[in-house]
Amino acid sequence: MHQINRQGISSLSNTQLEDVIAEIEQAIEWHQSWYKNLLRCLIADTPANEQDLADNAHNFCRFGQWFNKLPDQTIKLHPHFSEIASAHKKMHQGAKVLLSLKESKTVIPVNLLDQFHADLDRLRELFDCLIDEFTEVLHTRDPLTGASNRTNLLENLQKEHELCKRKSLSCALIMIDLDHFKQVNDEFGHAAGDKVLIALVKCIKSQLRKYDQLYRYGGEEFLVCLPQTELDDAKSFSERLRAGVEALKIDISNDNHINVTGSFGVTLISADDNIETAIERADEAMYQAKKSGRNRVCVA
Ligand code: GH3
Ligand code: MG
Ligand code: MG
Repeated sequence: MHQINRQGISSLSNTQLEDVIAEIEQAIEWHQSWYKNLLRCLIADTPANEQDLADNAHNFCRFGQWFNKLPDQTIKLHPHFSEIASAHKKMHQGAKVLLSLKESKTVIPVNLLDQFHADLDRLRELFDCLIDEFTEVLHTRDPLTGASNRTNLLENLQKEHELCKRKSLSCALIMIDLDHFKQVNDEFGHAAGDKVLIALVKCIKSQLRKYDQLYRYGGEEFLVCLPQTELDDAKSFSERLRAGVEALKIDISNDNHINVTGSFGVTLISADDNIETAIERADEAMYQAKKSGRNRVCVA
């Protein structure tokens, strides 16, 4: 099972991710038209393209030229990129053999054709998988802040919960809601409010561990899941987050910055909990923090 480089992917904005997906789709189209042309050469009496008869044909096709120019950071985003490189080369080697046989008017053995198509299918499978996974990242992420949206929230938390239960460990949830955020919008405008949300997510993300998850739960409400974390640790972590948010200086214009605070509700997902109930409990703890004066951490 491949591990997709989520960290690399999450460093891309949604627009950059959309661009990568569009480029891959374009590359697939080039590849498709190369294949159609190959069929013309093999089946109809069209002469083979010189480049397709070369040993390094994979570097000459339009797809290959695009692929060779991909920056290292893109290649590192997913292990499929390097698999595509070798599958693509193999497929071209197969095509070269087929074309050479055709050129010398030799009947193509069916096993060679089948092998070529198997290589072609493998390449197609890698393309599709790449597009599916990138699209999934795009669709499960909030475009403004880059935090996860709620699409897979319940499913992911359920998985985390099961894992923790199996190891007899706890999983903590933190509900975070910005204080008086409506006032920020009213006073400084919606664009400034957006900057606050972006800064908040950056601040939270900077303190998360690799397997912690951050969701935009509502407008200015965020949910953090801390796997394998006991209540005391979750509480002190929330306290650090709270202080970090309070210390943020968010630039909204040349020499104008704003400060915000947040209210935090912490709970554990207990062994027999259902996830929705645990989220409600985190929410109640957060409301407790609001009621008792905001800019604080409460536990339920
Ligand atoms: P409280 O301390 O009780 O939480 O007060 P509040 O003002 O933060 O809460 P309220 O629910 O009244 O207001 C939330 C505001 O968040 C209202 C809404 O316009 C704003 N908001 C929600 N999503 C976004 C967004 O994407 N961008 C901006 N700029 N504002 C948003
Ligand atoms: Mg609020
Ligand atoms: Mg709210």
